[in-house]
Amino acid sequence: MKKMGASFLALAVAGALLTGCWGMGDSSSGSSSGGTSSSAPSSSMTPSPTPDAGEDGIYPEDGDGAGADEGDRMPGQSSSQPAKAAAAQPDADWRTLLVNAEHPLGSDFSVETVPVEGYDDRLFDARAVEDLNRMLKGAADAGLPLYLVSTYRSVERQTALYRRKVNYYLGQGYTQELAEQQAARWVAAPGTSEHNLGLAADIVSADWYQNNDDLTGAFEETPEFAWLSQHCVEYGFVLRYPADKTALTGVEYEPWHARYVGVEAARYLTENGLCLEELNT
Ligand SMILES: [Zn+2]
Repeated sequence: MKKMGASFLALAVAGALLTGCWGMGDSSSGSSSGGTSSSAPSSSMTPSPTPDAGEDGIYPEDGDGAGADEGDRMPGQSSSQPAKAAAAQPDADWRTLLVNAEHPLGSDFSVETVPVEGYDDRLFDARAVEDLNRMLKGAADAGLPLYLVSTYRSVERQTALYRRKVNYYLGQGYTQELAEQQAARWVAAPGTSEHNLGLAADIVSADWYQNNDDLTGAFEETPEFAWLSQHCVEYGFVLRYPADKTALTGVEYEPWHARYVGVEAARYLTENGLCLEELNT
């Protein structure tokens, strides 16, 4: 059943929920759907969230799933280029490395990734993948099987998606500057998505994946989410974008986006009610 409709679009029009995690499998070939949308802006300079609302909400297997997951990006965020590059400190803990619009990965960032158990095309940091595998097994053993919608995404791929989006807006008559601004509302600039790190996973229940076309906040009402939120810390994960931290993270509430930080940091963050931005400041 296809449900990518009213609720998502309503939120999108409200400018509230274009966070970026949706439908972004690494196997996705991406989308050029924006140009075919009847609701796409023509020569208007008025920002409109509708052109790519579809691809933002579609799982990769559905075709155009190259959308908002590009970077967990809020529509309202500035598209200005990040001022400084993260990951410069050699002694920085790779597990708690902060990546967001203000803290992009350096252009020289690289990570060794391996497939997550049970998947051919979901890659994760090789140093952390075992904990992810164990978490998935733990959920399955509890009778609450999870499904990985998206994990690692290379900076190169992020770059390609971002450029494609910029080109789309250029084609709509936007200036270069405005095109980049608009593109960044939907696709995080290269290096600014946690998915580029190889330590982020968009996780829903297997049941949810079968019955929903989008990732939405309603995932939090599932028993699988309850399990995940309760147990993820035991495997070194935190739910990265909680509802009460959007002002700090710059990302809307995403109950499906888990970030590996290691058990010690996960416990510390969870017990103290902190998000990663607060740990790094
Ligand atoms: Zn995500």
